[in-house]
Amino acid sequence: MEQFKPADRIQDLQYFGEFGGVNPSISDSSTYTFLSAKTMFDTFEGNAEGCYLYSRHSSPSNLYLDQALAAMEGTEAANVAASGMGAITCTLLQICGQNDHIVSSRTIYGGTYAFLKNFAPKMGITTSFVDITKLDLVEAAITPQTKVLYCETVSNPLLEVADIAGLSKIAKKHGLLLVVDNTFSPLSVAPAVLGADIVCHSLTKYINGSSDTVGGVTCASRAFIDSMKSVNTGASMLLGPTMDSLRSASVMKNLRTLHIRMKQHSHNALYLATKFEADGLKVVYPGLASHPSHKLYASMINPEYGFGGMMTIDAGSLDKANELMELMQLRNLGYLAVSLGFYKTLFSAPGTSTSSEIPLEEQQGMGLSDGLIRFSIGLDNDIARTYCEMKKCMEEVGVLEKSFA
Ligand SMILES: *Cc1c(COP(=O)(O)O)cnc(C)c1O
Repeated sequence: MEQFKPADRIQDLQYFGEFGGVNPSISDSSTYTFLSAKTMFDTFEGNAEGCYLYSRHSSPSNLYLDQALAAMEGTEAANVAASGMGAITCTLLQICGQNDHIVSSRTIYGGTYAFLKNFAPKMGITTSFVDITKLDLVEAAITPQTKVLYCETVSNPLLEVADIAGLSKIAKKHGLLLVVDNTFSPLSVAPAVLGADIVCHSLTKYINGSSDTVGGVTCASRAFIDSMKSVNTGASMLLGPTMDSLRSASVMKNLRTLHIRMKQHSHNALYLATKFEADGLKVVYPGLASHPSHKLYASMINPEYGFGGMMTIDAGSLDKANELMELMQLRNLGYLAVSLGFYKTLFSAPGTSTSSEIPLEEQQGMGLSDGLIRFSIGLDNDIARTYCEMKKCMEEVGVLEKSFA
């Protein structure tokens, strides 16, 4: 099979502004005029290609970003949303209703977990959470009511890898839709090419990359995206998680450098993971041979973009983790903050932050220890220098023994 080249596909799209500008003009309107009443009616019915009606439905700026993200994921179409959760919840609510069932990975983003566990049941949608790395357990959890298999390519925060091709086979066999959150691995992995039906992202993270907005997207078939936008029955249209045009134009400009950023994030994370593992720390990074899914992940990624910028280190206890993170922030090695994909390294203890929605006993069951620190490694120019400074911090707080070499 010819290699899928997501960044080239984005680059090959050409846009001009209204006056020949090198960036497309930003559409600064919530509503659009029609020369004829008939065209307005047709647009409502969804039969007037290229006509805009009202910006909750679509706007030129959002369609440009949709097109670029669909090209990146290799899907027919896409629909941006005001946040990753806006995209994920509308996608799932478009598919599922009363008495439907979802089989989900148990290691997913805390917000998605809370939605499935606490909110979706109010609409009669139930979820079984399983260890997504065990395909037999996934298949065993499927019931006649199941509509969706849900997972993250690389899971948050434990960095488990989902075998998307294997899950896709199961989904097809049982007539389910495989929905994959690819937030941690844009460009590196193309889930739709591996067999996923629908790919979601939080644009807030790598894709926008500047920690100045939240945003999300659903990438899928034309028919599914149209169903989400239907004026009568579409979750995106009716629940209204619309991204603002000014913001989508801004995300679009940041998307231009995603390929360069992903390479640097991956390069820096692999460097630190390798060094800290050699120093004797418990490091989880899919690029390390010690990662349980290293071989599988190596077969799934586009090697140009590497294994990504996320890694975890176990500091031993929550107190040590907190002490270390505070010291690293003091030394300007990164910020003690949730989120990821920023130019600066970000770190947090997921057990007490981004995964705190997951009850303690379940955290322990999935191997989420309370000394775990999740790192989103930044774009540091000299990562060897960063490593030396981080190592000093680890020695000072006693996470690493002092070396006198
Ligand atoms: C942040 C995140 C989300 C939620 O996205 P928002 O833009 O914050 O709504 C979903 N999935 C993953 C993996 C995330 O990291």
